[in-house]
Amino acid sequence: MNNVSLSKSRYCRALQCNKMLWMDINKKEEAVDKASENVLENGIKVGELARNYFGKFVNIEYNKELSKMVYDTEEYIKLAPNIITEASFVYDNNFCSVDILKNDLDGIEIYEVKSSCDLKDIYIDDVSYQMYILKSLDYKIKKVNVMYLNNKYIRKGKLDLKQLFKIEDVTEIATSKQEEIKEKIKEIDEYMKTEEEPEEEISIKCFNPYPCAYFEHCTRNLPKKNVFSISKMSTNKKIELYNKGIYSYEDLLKEDLSWRYHQQVETDLNNETIIKKEEIREFMSKLTYPIYFLDFETYMTPIPEYDGTWPYEQIPFQYSLHYIEHENGELKHKEYLAQSGIDPRREITERLVEDIPKDVCVTAYNMSFEKTRIKELANLFEDLREHLLNIYDNIVDLMIPFSKRMYYTKDMQGSYSIKFVLPALFPNDPELNYHNLPVVHNGAEAMNIFANLGNYPKKEQEKIREGLLKYCKLDTYAMVKVWEKLKEVIK
Ligand code: SF4
Repeated sequence: MNNVSLSKSRYCRALQCNKMLWMDINKKEEAVDKASENVLENGIKVGELARNYFGKFVNIEYNKELSKMVYDTEEYIKLAPNIITEASFVYDNNFCSVDILKNDLDGIEIYEVKSSCDLKDIYIDDVSYQMYILKSLDYKIKKVNVMYLNNKYIRKGKLDLKQLFKIEDVTEIATSKQEEIKEKIKEIDEYMKTEEEPEEEISIKCFNPYPCAYFEHCTRNLPKKNVFSISKMSTNKKIELYNKGIYSYEDLLKEDLSWRYHQQVETDLNNETIIKKEEIREFMSKLTYPIYFLDFETYMTPIPEYDGTWPYEQIPFQYSLHYIEHENGELKHKEYLAQSGIDPRREITERLVEDIPKDVCVTAYNMSFEKTRIKELANLFEDLREHLLNIYDNIVDLMIPFSKRMYYTKDMQGSYSIKFVLPALFPNDPELNYHNLPVVHNGAEAMNIFANLGNYPKKEQEKIREGLLKYCKLDTYAMVKVWEKLKEVIK
């Protein structure tokens, strides 16, 4: 029997990097947690829905005593044919629960359910490990499958599970991995006996298939600003440079790299600020009064909630709009926040065309996001299409002076995201500090909290709604401040 008890997730983590599992067991406190709670919740929701795919099923309830789950599974397996969810098995101290097990008289089919819209290699490894355990226990395996979401499915009326889920038969590849798995388990067992923290080379495995939470720990001996701090450079390129021994900003300067990377490094080392006044002036000439500053918040769910929506469609539920009608005019504000639990698309569209007149200049920061949402709404509501397309055509991207490096400071750290640009332009301004907001501090939080708003008590819902309004309002207020800053530097 091996010493370390594996589960399917532990096996997959060690497959990505043995040290990752070693750290989980011995130095968990070093993890900078990157797993989003929302991803976990989505997984649970999709998993629960998928259980109904084959009709009636029996579920093995979770029990701290895994032996109880294993015992219950054995009992139900005797009652073939049936469908068992969370069927649990142990072989040689290695445990697994099968999401859906189709227990036929002539053998077993394994289904691993994923809340993703594509089939990743790691999912095949996951289900291959389950096959290994069941085969080792002498079960006859007929088929091994990964079940995941079909992003082409558009809901019409009642959810159609046969259309919502795709099933990929991976029996052949899982069978071919069986010997490899046996060897890998032995290797993991040996590795976990190491008492001293093992050394592992930084490589692509630190990012793929999942970003490793121990990356900061494992790179702690590199210079504080290093090759991995370069913004917008592909991970493969960073690893290539790292493997050549190029770690520090000084090392990077000697390399033949794109001007963007060199600029990030040089401005950092020399503490320079770049302001290309003529280019900014030309950009600013496109921003005319009346001027509107628009920002949407969206949420998405793996299971489409409304007719005409698909898995992970971005549903706009909120916007903030600052506007100034003429030069030296007053800064005004309008906003919209949907009620939770209703399809917000019609109402938000009606409000948007009410709030933004035709033929006005609209700015967005990273406009492709806002433009895509407006196009989607225009395709949905024929009667408002013309007005929406007029707004669409008049959007100017306020990000351009920063993405084109017309204005750049070292504090932007190579990024042109508003989350870097804003503190770089207005350091220590508490009014523009997202950390000072009471409830929601970033787009991901807004998305998650709105998607689950109905689950909070009524009183708390009010506080959250206020928090959402404050957050979104700051987004467009920040845009106004950025625009004012640009005006100031070209004076
Ligand atoms: S950062 Fe890389 S080397 Fe370190 S534990 Fe994670 S995957 Fe392994």
